[in-house]
Parts: sequence; structure tokens; C-alpha cells
Amino acid sequence: MSNRSRRSAQSACERVAVIGGGVSGALISVALAEQGYQVIALEKASIGNGSSQRSLACIRAQFGVVETVLGMMYSEWWYANAHDLLQTPADRRDEAIITQNGYLFLYEHPDAIPPWRLDACRIAQAAWEEGQSNAAMHVTLGLPVETLTPEQVHMRWPHLAADHLIGATFCQQDGFLKPDLIYSLGFRRAQELGADLWENTEVTGAQTHSGRITRLETTRGPMEVDWVVNATNAWAPRVSRRLGGMELPIAPIKRYLYAFQAQRPIPGVDNWRALPMTIYGMGEGRGAHSRPEAGQDPGHLLFGWSYPAEPEPNFTDEDQDAVQPGFRHDVFEERYGEAVNYGYATLRQACDFIPGLDECGGITATTCGYYGATPDGSPLIGHDAHLSNLIHAAGFSGHGVMHAPITALLVAALLTGQAHDGAVALPTPLSGKTINLATFDPQRDFAQTQREAYVL
Ligand SMILES: Cc1cc2nc3c(=O)[nH]c(=O)nc-3n(C[C@H](O)[C@H](O)[C@H](O)COP(=O)(O)OP(=O)(O)OC[C@H]3O[C@@H](n4cnc5c(N)ncnc54)[C@H](O)[C@@H]3O)c2cc1C
Repeated sequence: MSNRSRRSAQSACERVAVIGGGVSGALISVALAEQGYQVIALEKASIGNGSSQRSLACIRAQFGVVETVLGMMYSEWWYANAHDLLQTPADRRDEAIITQNGYLFLYEHPDAIPPWRLDACRIAQAAWEEGQSNAAMHVTLGLPVETLTPEQVHMRWPHLAADHLIGATFCQQDGFLKPDLIYSLGFRRAQELGADLWENTEVTGAQTHSGRITRLETTRGPMEVDWVVNATNAWAPRVSRRLGGMELPIAPIKRYLYAFQAQRPIPGVDNWRALPMTIYGMGEGRGAHSRPEAGQDPGHLLFGWSYPAEPEPNFTDEDQDAVQPGFRHDVFEERYGEAVNYGYATLRQACDFIPGLDECGGITATTCGYYGATPDGSPLIGHDAHLSNLIHAAGFSGHGVMHAPITALLVAALLTGQAHDGAVALPTPLSGKTINLATFDPQRDFAQTQREAYVL
């Protein structure tokens, strides 16, 4: 008997409850059903109820933490082959799950910043040094990242002003995703493999015995379990508490997206559709970003920006779509005599790099949802500190959609015991590379960990 069939024979008897009907829950369900586990996915509303349907859904492997770079290289490969891997029926393959327009990090020239903003000049210089050093690390790992001069940027994307830049990094295999396809086709495949999906079923508590969860309490009644996976992201601390698990350092933080429509597509229609995800400067007070959206008119861009915000640990489902004062694009608001609007502040950052952008269009819609933010900007994927059969897969900040394939692979490795010396070997095309589980361990000491440099 091969290792895989021995594993399947053993796991066939084991029942796993996967809590959460987003992209993470969907791909974890597929990965565990493929290993022969009896999977039951539990979602308190309908699939996509959380951040997965409110996401900008970009994907990049340009990160600062090596494990995340490798994980995202795997995710990019996985999404590029997703229809085959999910055995999507022919009539649902028309829409691409991933669009690889690339990811362009623009770094502003310190001389382009007024000298009285001394801090901003220093931040811009430091950000560029870090960007170049990370690009060198990416190339060493096999990720094709290009470091570009301002002139090269302007040659490729003429709407971007060279004189504002000190340089840029670009990776063509980055891009953006279709999360609704990921969770709907993911759960379709999981069910085809024998998994059950219970929507409108909330997990309310658990019975435990000798440091293990023996039974889950749900609004559909109790169920016996061998394993539980907490894939509820911004809800994960509450769910962990309900189950008797550890306190999870995940802060639910509201994040907004702004739909921008220009009357004319500045770089031309085809060039507009091919625009990469673009980050307009790095460092404090910067980080506004935009990307085109498939199926929208040329001239349409989705903008985001992670301004400082307070955690909302008790947010409700309805709060997900509540646009707070200061964020409405259609209402003029003042604070201390100053106009406040974060959408326009976001757009203004981009205007420093695309002269005239704000004169040719405006914001037409504002939407929002929650990040599940962690102290070091990397997710929590691993065993609970108190309950040995509870695995957390949550705390993805703005990266949970891109993380879903590698999250699923790591969760499956944790259940099946495929990790060796705390590391999980990656399959082809990344064979020979491993991911150190300690990087994502929910029990890690955050005072000692490397903070992710690129949390957007
Ligand atoms: C504005 C915005 C922009 C973003 N941009 C990006 C981006 O560019 N790239 C990227 O990769 N990520 C991005 N993200 C983050 C990404 O969307 C999330 O990290 C990802 O969707 C998390 O997916 P998930 O499946 O882990 O959780 P979710 O999609 O949030 O799903 C969790 C589910 O758990 C369910 N649930 C909660 N409690 C219970 C319970 N007790 N019982 C049963 N079910 C329960 C909820 O109803 C919910 O459906 C963005 C997020 C936002 C808000």
C-alpha cells in the first residue's frame, strides 16, 4: 500500500469540520477531501458572506518574508492552473480565475517631496532601499522581479510621470483574482469529492475532553468531530473563544475600496485593460493602489489605501458594508474646518504619479469590508495552544484571497502530519523548496518575528 493510499484509508474515518464559507474554507475543504477526510464545511450565512466577496483580490509574490514569497509563488502557480486542479466543468471555464497583469511598486524620488516634509523624504529613501533589497531576494528565490528606472517605467506606462520616481519593481506573474469563482468552484469541487456544505449553520460552541474538541455545537444541532479548522478570518478570535481555544491576536479593521471612472482611458483602451496593480509610493502616508477591473468600461479603476484605523472586535455582518463618515464619496464632510474624504485622499496620492487623473474623472462608488490584521502582518496557520485538534487558518490582513491555495496546502500538511522538522515541502513546480511552519504558528512570539514589509 502506498503512503498516499494508507493516509487516505486512515483519514477516511476522520471527520473534519471546516468553519467559514470564504475562499480559505473552500480551498481547505478541497485539499482535505482530496486526502480522503470526511469534510463538513459550516457557514453561518451563505458562502462568500465575509471579506471574500468584498475584496480587491489582488495577488503578488513580492513580499518581505521569505515563506510568504514562496507561498505566493505556489499560489500563483495554483491559480494559473485552477480550472484544471478544480476539474471545473467545461461550461464554467470561460472566465479566468487569475489575470496576470503584474504588480508595479512605484517608489517616489525624495527630491520630488517638498524639503519641509523631511520625514517623508527619509521614508521614501528608506522604502526604495528596502524595495531594491527585497527585489534581489525575490530573484534569488526564482521570482522574476524587475527593478526599473523612472525612464523605463514611463516607456512602458506613459501615463506615469518619470520625474516623480526614483525607481520601481515589477513582477509580471502577479495580478488579480476572481474570489466569487474561487469559493463557488472550490465548494463545487469539494462536494464532488464527497464533502458536505452546510450554509446557514453557525458554530456556537464545543464540548472538549482531555484537550480535544469532541463535539461541535451548531445551530443545526451537535456534531461529533475529529478535527476542527477555524477559517473565519476576522471572526476567528470570537470563534476560537466559543470553542475554548486560545486568544487569537487578530484585529478586525475596516478597509475601503473606491471605484473610479475616467471619461477617457488615459493610456488608451487596450493599455488601460492591461494595467498592472500599481502601488503609488511606499511608507507611512503612502500605499494607495489601483487596478483595472475585468468586465468594466475602460477608464474604470478600483482604488484602495490602508489608512490608520481602529479595530472593531465586535463588528456585525451588517457593519461590513457600513460606509463611515469621512468615506462617502457623494457627501461633503468637514472636520475642524477641513474637508475630509479618504477616497479623495487616496486619489490624490495617485495624482502625484499620474498628472491630471483627478481632472478626467471621479469616484462613483465606495465599498468596504474587514481585514483580519495580525501584529506582524503574517497570517496564523497552525495548531491551537490549548486544543490539539483545532487548527487556525486566519488573520490574513489584505492577503487572504492570494493565500488560499498555500493555506489549504499547509492545513492539509498539519492534519496528515506531512511536515518534517517543522517544514512543509512544496510540490512541483517549487519542489526542493520548503515552508517553515514556525513563521505562521499562531503561538509564535510576535516580539521576535519579522514584520511583513508590504502590508497594503
Ligand atoms: C477592502 C478589502 C480589500 C482586500 N484586498 C485583498 C487583495 O487585494 N488580495 C487578497 O488576497 N486579499 C485581500 N483582502 C483580504 C481578503 O479578502 C481576505 O483575507 C479573505 O477574503 C479572507 O477569506 P476567508 O475565507 O479566510 O474569510 P472570509 O471570506 O471572511 O470568510 C469567513 C466566513 O466565516 C463565516 N463565519 C464566521 N463566524 C462563523 C461561525 N461561528 N459559524 C460559521 N461560519 C462563521 C462568515 O460568515 C464568513 O463567510 C481584502 C479585504 C478587503 C476587505
